[in-house]
Amino acid sequence: MAVNYRELGLKVGLEIHQELATSHKLFCDCSPRLFREEPEYTFLRRLRPTQSEMGEVDPAALFEFQQGKTLLYEASRETDCLVEMDEEPPGPLNSEAVDICLVLALMMGSRPVDEIHVMRKTVIDGSNTTGFQRTCVISLGGEITVDGKRVTIEQICLEEDAARKTGESGVLMQYRIDRLGIPLIEISTAPVITSPEEAGSVALAIGRMLRVTGRVRRGLGTIRQDVNISIKEGALTEIKGVQQLDLVSKVVEYEVQRQRRLLDIREELRRRGLTKENLQEEFSDVTEVFSETKCQVIRSSMKKGGRVYALRLPHFAGLVGRELCPGRRLGTEMADRARFWGGVSGLFHTDELPSYGITAEEVAKLREAVGAGGDDAVVLVSSEPQKCRDALQAVLKRASEAVEGVPSETRGPNPDGTTHYMRPRPGAARMYPETDVVPVTVTPNRLEKVRRSLPEMPEEKLSRLITEFNLNRKLALQILDSDYLDLFEAISRETKVPPSLVAVTLTETLKSLEREGVKVEALTEENLREVFLSIDKGLLVKESVPDILTWLANNPEASALEAIKALRLELLSQEALWEIVRGKVKENEELAKRMGLRAVGTLMGAVMREVRGRARVEDVQGLVEKALKEMLGA
Ligand SMILES: [Zn+2]
Repeated sequence: MAVNYRELGLKVGLEIHQELATSHKLFCDCSPRLFREEPEYTFLRRLRPTQSEMGEVDPAALFEFQQGKTLLYEASRETDCLVEMDEEPPGPLNSEAVDICLVLALMMGSRPVDEIHVMRKTVIDGSNTTGFQRTCVISLGGEITVDGKRVTIEQICLEEDAARKTGESGVLMQYRIDRLGIPLIEISTAPVITSPEEAGSVALAIGRMLRVTGRVRRGLGTIRQDVNISIKEGALTEIKGVQQLDLVSKVVEYEVQRQRRLLDIREELRRRGLTKENLQEEFSDVTEVFSETKCQVIRSSMKKGGRVYALRLPHFAGLVGRELCPGRRLGTEMADRARFWGGVSGLFHTDELPSYGITAEEVAKLREAVGAGGDDAVVLVSSEPQKCRDALQAVLKRASEAVEGVPSETRGPNPDGTTHYMRPRPGAARMYPETDVVPVTVTPNRLEKVRRSLPEMPEEKLSRLITEFNLNRKLALQILDSDYLDLFEAISRETKVPPSLVAVTLTETLKSLEREGVKVEALTEENLREVFLSIDKGLLVKESVPDILTWLANNPEASALEAIKALRLELLSQEALWEIVRGKVKENEELAKRMGLRAVGTLMGAVMREVRGRARVEDVQGLVEKALKEMLGA
């Protein structure tokens, strides 16, 4: 059934974040790369709830602080210094990064500010050692045209990227600060996008503009989208950190579906006569009901001294278990909240029971214990009493929001495009000036210089890929949307390898290797370049490329020549090949005499089985024909 998004009043705004490829970080000289090795040093900090100037504290941050959350930061000497550790003030703003942002601003008709002022934006999750993120506005306004529609750009900002989370256990949160301080451009559109498909196209179009500059970092996680979505009567939901461009439209589609189903649930609750006042804070200890239970989750919790608590949700029968998105129910949303605010591992609700080892008799006793009627649902959790009460408190809050409709939340994406609860939406971004960084004037001179060196626009680039390299449109688009656009052009110019082979290898071959589990992100540009140089020099046949790349992905420090040696894929000399061909033809003398020249195909197959990867097909064919003619005396 087609959804009429216009009628639903869908509004989507995108914030695209892309790491820039600069020689050093935004406020220091550290190398902007991520390290895979063990950290050279670590340090501990307490999470502080940061206050706005108005004195309000973010409830989620305060809650985490009260839990005694501690941060373990991991660092290395090459990627981190005292600036990232917040032991030294930041250095001047990286002018290389500013120039890249100015390039994008001019490409999108966005008006650069006269003076760039670095600001501090409160960050509450520990991903910045300072408790804030440094950000500055580079330009305002602008637009891009996507499929004939003008999409307004609100602003372009330059920010420092945050530390990346590497683990969490109990109260300890682990962050690696190598990513902290890597320059990040943020391009925000106005909320003018009106369908999931359009959201995907706009994200793709902005991604292309970023890539044609040739100045952005590549690989998973270097581009991240925040998607802001609302529908009429729904609420603004912010979905943070979508990493794949092709997931954006799915995320929008599912969010609209989720909000619509939540509105349906609201209508049903109202029809059943529920008001928020009916939702009572009555948490019952029902441990007795489960004293003999076969439910593994409850048993193991009770073994550790846990109790079972239940909450009656009047008129919610059938609604807690109602699906909002594939595999996600209202009950899932309640469980997300219970985990976040109560630290429990999950919950059970009567819409899904009896199941999980909980029997019908236990459900009946449970209903009786909390006085639940047939129209009511019951939610239960098992843990230490305080956690149970915190968890059920959060469930009650989520239930009361269901009476209102859609809660305003910050959510995170799941790999399939559905989303999960992250935290309540913070108030408007709290910003104050960063007094440690001197403002930067954007002179007309500087702008003129940037204007003279603007890259081709994506459309021009696409046409040129088609004409200059003779690619078909589909392949040209694939290479335009890949991380290897520049590498493709460089290799196609410096070798005689057919550009279509280069393009297919850099897109389809790498993708299919990745699907097979090969760590293609480990391959360096040097690895890839050498492979094509080897083909160019006649050291390697194209059929061997997937094997060579697979080997190199496991040995990225090695050279293509070493890969060829290790895999015994060196090309045979013409003499050696001739000996093999002649031998095979002789072996099949009877067949050859019987079929004459028609035996070429069969004989080639026999030879290729022996020399695959070590000889070109054309060469084998020529030699087989020659040997056959010799034998037949033709
Ligand atoms: Zn540094």
